[in-house]
Amino acid sequence: MQGPITDIVRLGLLVLFLRVQQRSRPHTYIRQWFVGWTFIFLGYTVWAVPGTTPLTGKLQDIACFDFLLLGVLTFLVSLLPPAAWRRRGLVVAVVLGVVNVGVVNLQQLVSLPKLLLVGMVLLWHGNGLYAADVLLRGKLQGIRRAVFAFCTVYGAAMLAYVLMTPAKNLNSWAVGEVLLCTALLYWKWGEKNGAVRWVGTLGFVGWAAFYYGNILLVEGSRAHRLLDEFWSFPKYFVAVTMILKIFEDTTNDQAMMAELFRELYEDFRLIYNSHPHPMWICDEGGGRFLTANDAMLREYGYSMEELYGMEMEGLQCPVDPESEVELNLEDTGPEGTLVKHRHKDGRVVWVNQVIREITYLGQAAQFVIARDVTDRIALDQELTHRARHDALTGLPNRHLMEERIQQSLTTCVRDDRRATLLTIDIDHFKLINDTYGHLVGDECLRAVAERLKSKIRKADTIARTGGEEFMAIVGGLTSASDAEKVAGSLLRVFENPVEVSIGELHVTVSVGVAVYPDDAEDVETLRRLSDEALYRAKRGGRNRAAYANDMAGGGSLRQMNLVG
Ligand code: GH3
Ligand code: MG
Ligand code: MG
Repeated sequence: MQGPITDIVRLGLLVLFLRVQQRSRPHTYIRQWFVGWTFIFLGYTVWAVPGTTPLTGKLQDIACFDFLLLGVLTFLVSLLPPAAWRRRGLVVAVVLGVVNVGVVNLQQLVSLPKLLLVGMVLLWHGNGLYAADVLLRGKLQGIRRAVFAFCTVYGAAMLAYVLMTPAKNLNSWAVGEVLLCTALLYWKWGEKNGAVRWVGTLGFVGWAAFYYGNILLVEGSRAHRLLDEFWSFPKYFVAVTMILKIFEDTTNDQAMMAELFRELYEDFRLIYNSHPHPMWICDEGGGRFLTANDAMLREYGYSMEELYGMEMEGLQCPVDPESEVELNLEDTGPEGTLVKHRHKDGRVVWVNQVIREITYLGQAAQFVIARDVTDRIALDQELTHRARHDALTGLPNRHLMEERIQQSLTTCVRDDRRATLLTIDIDHFKLINDTYGHLVGDECLRAVAERLKSKIRKADTIARTGGEEFMAIVGGLTSASDAEKVAGSLLRVFENPVEVSIGELHVTVSVGVAVYPDDAEDVETLRRLSDEALYRAKRGGRNRAAYANDMAGGGSLRQMNLVG
């Protein structure tokens, strides 16, 4: 099938192809080609509709010419350097271009004065030279010069045509000039690809040549009929080179993406391997090692071959809940979990372990980052210990004692047992300081602390709560009289003198005793009663225990009973 309908179908398919391409591709030129071919498609569609009167026929011709011109101008723009067409030059070119095209269109309907046409030709070329100057400045110098020369010669020829003939085919002259300029730019643009360059440039030149042929050849002649026969050929040459160019860019893009991915992979591999923290990937089910970075191999001391035969479980080391009670081992948030790992050489380290579920080589896996935080943990433990213990004796301080009292009482409630709170004060300690000096006083305090501690079970607590004052909480008692035994043992522990650097010192203590829940059920009252009992023990002559429940009488007798 031949004729305008075939052209419309072909052009329609071409527009569809470019539409699909421009949606999925980032290249601006594909979008511009899509717009350009849409204009040409519209031009053909207008041309294919039969005109009913000579006027409508002429108007159709004008519309067809305008669409064609817009189409090839869009191709021209698509071949300009990327940033150029945003410049002011393009706006000027478009405005002047519209005036020119208006004049050319009018000339198709009525015969315009020669002077106006000459003005139009001069304006048209002035505009062309200005646009070429602005748009190609700095780049494409060779092409800029070529376009300049071409437009000047072409302008002179067009002027002669206007002056010497009725100038009925000005529109063909205009389209021809834009096509030849586009051919020049296409030649430069398609530099890297021989076929695309040659066929495309020839296509544009041929396209222009057919318009000149249309002007020069006698209508009805054999040559003119041939021209009609092959009228659409050049533009299909152009279309085919454009399609080739798009396919070529697709291949290039894919190769570029592959290269980009390879580089990215290399980058990530480098970061992974040179990262200072140990990292590894193991399978999700069994925890088998699949890969590990250099830091992991270096720190843990295993080779990759050894790790392949191991599971992550093999690194784990049990945590002692007694000694590490102050560490937050439950935290499994984004900050990671605190665990203990054993290195190949047996060294145990604290590790902050972050685990992320990932897919590795198509299977569910775990990506693990393990940061050695042994030093930080040691410092943390040290600081926590200092905040809760007395520096001189190493015993818990008042702050920790508060917690221990609460814990002890809670256990007593649970187990239906009693607890006793004992306040212990060294007798005449000031005298030791005054006689032997503070350093000996300190030694004495340490020795007393040791003695007292030796009589307190691990589950109970003895604290230094003041200068030469101590406090003990002893739980799990079955009767109130158990408290007396505890107090008695504390007094008796000083029957022998304590050792200090200057020799032996005879030390005694006084003890105030309150029993939970017999004397009081709240900590505050219990503490007050124990304190008051101590005061009574001091008043009673020291080196003795006094009891909160003796306030009502009989206390002095029992105080004496308990004296070591
Ligand atoms: P009492 O039998 O009534 O308890 O008499 P005391 O001398 O033991 O009690 P007092 O409260 O009069 O004196 C306590 C002294 O303990 C006063 C203070 O200088 C001394 N002291 C407090 N803290 C320390 C310490 O850390 N090291 C030494 N060496 N002495 C301390
Ligand atoms: Mg004292
Ligand atoms: Mg005191």
